[in-house]
Amino acid sequence: MAQYTQRPMRFPENILQAICERFLPTACIVCQQFQDYSICNNCLGALRDDGLFNYQCCYQCGITLQPEEISQQHCAPCQISEPYFDETYCLDRYTGILQEPLHEFKYQKRIAFGHALSSTWNALFSMQLENIDASYLLPVPLSIQKLSQRGFNQSWEIAKRIDCRKYIQKSPYILQRHHYPEHQAGSSIENRHQSIRGMFYIQEKYIEKIQHKTVIVFDDVMTSGATLNEIARVLKDNGVSRVINWVLLRAARPIERAQHV
Ligand SMILES: [Zn+2]
Ligand SMILES: [Zn+2]
Repeated sequence: MAQYTQRPMRFPENILQAICERFLPTACIVCQQFQDYSICNNCLGALRDDGLFNYQCCYQCGITLQPEEISQQHCAPCQISEPYFDETYCLDRYTGILQEPLHEFKYQKRIAFGHALSSTWNALFSMQLENIDASYLLPVPLSIQKLSQRGFNQSWEIAKRIDCRKYIQKSPYILQRHHYPEHQAGSSIENRHQSIRGMFYIQEKYIEKIQHKTVIVFDDVMTSGATLNEIARVLKDNGVSRVINWVLLRAARPIERAQHV
């Protein structure tokens, strides 16, 4: 296990990226038009206008609110069965214009798309989130099967390039995943809940450090919220006082969703 716990973008990498963006034309990750940046101004504008952050969303789980929920800023499922996490910030919907670039990154292993997604997050969200008071930013860990198949953890690749305050320590080692053989959860929320329970743990040497701290958990996609809720449960069981989710893409409210798992 590597000893470092933070991997900010290194100085030469920063310079290299700036030079590439300045001098080499690239294709926008969304519309494929050639221009100077990894996402063009038109697509950035479309996201800015229609991104989830412009909508009335549940402060706790990030889902778009039904008209009758707006006054509370809280969706009915969160009111009925409160999740362990405290807040959720989502850049866009799962069905939005960033889904394809995310799939190019995750499944076609086009790493440049990952860098571009971090840049998109920074362009649209860094101002809104710059005053968030947290101690750690942790990616959702992958199973060993997925990690060896893919070769990288997409959430960490995006999270490590997100701009945030220096005091927020980024680390892929604090939150760990047990390497049980993967069993498919099926579609029911109850099955999902059962399959994910006990999946995550905190590496022992960090348990003392996270006591009474606020922790941000980064995930590329949030669907039912089961994974992030289980992670928040584990973090809070280990003394974390507050858990905030940062999510790239948020799935719409599932029809069968009766409670948070
Ligand atoms: Zn574009
Ligand atoms: Zn909610």
